[in-house]
Amino acid sequence: MKVIAIANQKGGVGKTTTAINVGTALAATGSRVLLIDLDPQGNASTGLGIARADRTLSSYDLLIRDCSLIEAAIPTRVPRLDIVPSTVDLSGAEIELIEFEERTHRLDRTIARSDARWDVVLIDCPPSLGLMTINAMIAAHALLVPLQCEFFALEGLSQLLTTVERIRSRFNPGLSILGVVLTMYDRRNRLTDQVSDDVRAVLGPVVFDTVIPRNVRLSEAPSHGMPALIYDHRCTGSQAYIALAREVISRLPRLAKAA
Ligand code: ADP
Ligand code: MG
Repeated sequence: MKVIAIANQKGGVGKTTTAINVGTALAATGSRVLLIDLDPQGNASTGLGIARADRTLSSYDLLIRDCSLIEAAIPTRVPRLDIVPSTVDLSGAEIELIEFEERTHRLDRTIARSDARWDVVLIDCPPSLGLMTINAMIAAHALLVPLQCEFFALEGLSQLLTTVERIRSRFNPGLSILGVVLTMYDRRNRLTDQVSDDVRAVLGPVVFDTVIPRNVRLSEAPSHGMPALIYDHRCTGSQAYIALAREVISRLPRLAKAA
């Protein structure tokens, strides 16, 4: 079971869209996928059509109540894609976690305790480097980092990488960067080409070849409670996520969690 945290402390860069659509594409290739919605906003849960009434157990219960993955996971409309949804309770979890001595390792423990019913676990992180994202980074083999194609794309990345370094040296030496994916690429805007070139020059081959275009179908799909890959599998956004999932699959075998 490979655990991948989708993280970037900036909001609105495409974390949730990437979690939903990479999850769907991986499931379509036959992998059993679990998406853990670790954002109190619950956009991944809503985007996968999980009604509030069906969120009986949530990622809050994983972190605070020692609930197991198997108890909390529910199926989505996508075959082989399950989700641990998020509820508003989660917005208090950051504070409640402080009470626990092992507050940074709650999710890691939960995942380690579960039998490997899934091939891949994707964690959709909230837009912060707080305790929830730290829990995800300690539980993960690797990070997938969406970076929006905008002028300030690299701003904030050094803070993220510093956090990764700290987590590596203290808690999770095997934590790697699975890759950085450029999102919301707009070919009509020359600035985005410049940004894409700059990011590749700075970060090198860790950047995925696939670039996710700005595509209105990707932003429409969540309001229908379905992944873009089901809402409109032909749109450029869906096709890009299929290509990204292929790259993700090719990088998975490199991951091995030390200790
Ligand atoms: P995050 O989880 O990082 O906050 P989201 O995935 O929720 O980011 O994306 C932020 C907003 O942008 C959402 O409304 C989403 O539908 C939209 N969006 C994400 N990726 C794209 C894209 N490639 N093209 C157009 N809209 C996008
Ligand atoms: Mg999100």
